[in-house]
Amino acid sequence: MSLRLRLALWCSALTGAVVVLVCFYSYAVHSRAHYDELDATLWSVTRHVAGELGAAGTDVERARILASARRLGTEVRIYGLDGRRHTLLPMPPVVDVDVHAVLAGPPHPAYPAVAALAPALHPPEHRPGAFGLLRGTDGARWRVFVLPDTTLEGTPHYLATALPLAHLDASVRQFARLMVVMAVLGCALTFVAGWLVAGRALRPVAVLTETAHRIAQSRVFSQRVAVGDPHDELSRLATTFNEMLASLEQAYAAQQRFVSDASHELRAPITVIQANLELLKRHAAMPAPEREQAVAEAYQESARLARLVADLLALARADAGVPMRRQRVELDRVLMTVLGEARHLTRDHRFEVEAIEPVIVEGDPDRLKQLLLIPIDNALRYTPASGRVGVALRRRRGVVEISIRDTGIGIAAEDLPHVFERFYRADPARTRDPGGTGLGLGIARWIAVQHGGVIDLTSAPGQGTTVSIRLPVVT
Ligand code: ATP
Ligand code: MG
Repeated sequence: MSLRLRLALWCSALTGAVVVLVCFYSYAVHSRAHYDELDATLWSVTRHVAGELGAAGTDVERARILASARRLGTEVRIYGLDGRRHTLLPMPPVVDVDVHAVLAGPPHPAYPAVAALAPALHPPEHRPGAFGLLRGTDGARWRVFVLPDTTLEGTPHYLATALPLAHLDASVRQFARLMVVMAVLGCALTFVAGWLVAGRALRPVAVLTETAHRIAQSRVFSQRVAVGDPHDELSRLATTFNEMLASLEQAYAAQQRFVSDASHELRAPITVIQANLELLKRHAAMPAPEREQAVAEAYQESARLARLVADLLALARADAGVPMRRQRVELDRVLMTVLGEARHLTRDHRFEVEAIEPVIVEGDPDRLKQLLLIPIDNALRYTPASGRVGVALRRRRGVVEISIRDTGIGIAAEDLPHVFERFYRADPARTRDPGGTGLGLGIARWIAVQHGGVIDLTSAPGQGTTVSIRLPVVT
């Protein structure tokens, strides 16, 4: 069932319940008031007739009083104490009252279903006598009142008066029908109103759904949904949706750039390896020195390929959020190892170890080694032979700071903000050393962040570069 239909149904069900309750209660109060009014009329007519009968001297006079009451719609009967009717006039017995039963019986409510809901306006027990409910010989309902202390010519009698209920019953039934029609109409109207209001309120959701569907089909993440009033919930949802689209767009573009850069970088060494192998295959009788050069070139490119694949794997792990190992690592020892390896890479550069303090950090020893190796490798790569590379590891208030300083070519100010981006290589680096792929610093930053640290780079063209890494230490 659609949300719109559900909202409309809830709306009409709730309003319908309220309308039904209000209608039923007003019906109960209204009808009870009418029946009570009829009782009050019956009671006062009876008192009046009883007074007149008491004052009348003859049966003829009494018959006239009864006849005039009848003309006004009230049937009046006189009964002896034995319950037998006193026949004054030859009146058809439309109603005959069992006075003893009425007097002994409970105070009948005129309309039982209603009595429970609407309390009596004129409680019968405040009056001498008793009310009852009868069916006439023709089946019509009558309301009767029996007054026990009527004295005719000094003899006690019962006086019973009856009023027909047909008219009042019909009017109450009509009122009931009106209430039912109103309740049904109220429900139907609130359903329609709920349907329209819900449709209007949910329109932004429909637009959102449509946009999401379009994007899913076309993969064009540049689309945005319209945002209305910034204070309503659906507009906030639209804003969040747009933010999500913006970040998806960015991620999608970055991923596409990454894939094309990666395939481009992978193609170069593969091409060189293939070309060299082709050469070796075609010219089997190649002179030994040329042959060695072709093999060495292919080997170098395959090493580069292996490094590139390892870097790509590291970045893929970074993107997938693969957690790193966590163990106590003596960072000073790791740095010593890295420096030992780096010394094998170069003979021309001068290494200056300014300080190495013993310090323990928590993390992955292999990754920490890689973190230190990347900037040292850069320092060697982008510093001309005979240049100087200074390394220091110092402990400062819960943090270890490693700085790698070189006197190399430096980085231009416009390149500096981008050097941590994947595949980014500043122009001088490209011309100097085609071997790099531009992934090193990106990986270094990921490792530093994973260890709760930071990596910064300051540089000026021609003056050298300083990389500083800060990591939390284990106390
Ligand atoms: P690789 O992924 O093989 O390390 P790379 O060295 O080109 O390739 P990064 O280490 O990420 O990639 O460095 C990015 C760029 O930053 C380099 O291409 C270079 O232009 C510049 N750069 C980094 N370190 C230095 C440095 N010490 N001196 C001068 N330029 C540097
Ligand atoms: Mg590098």
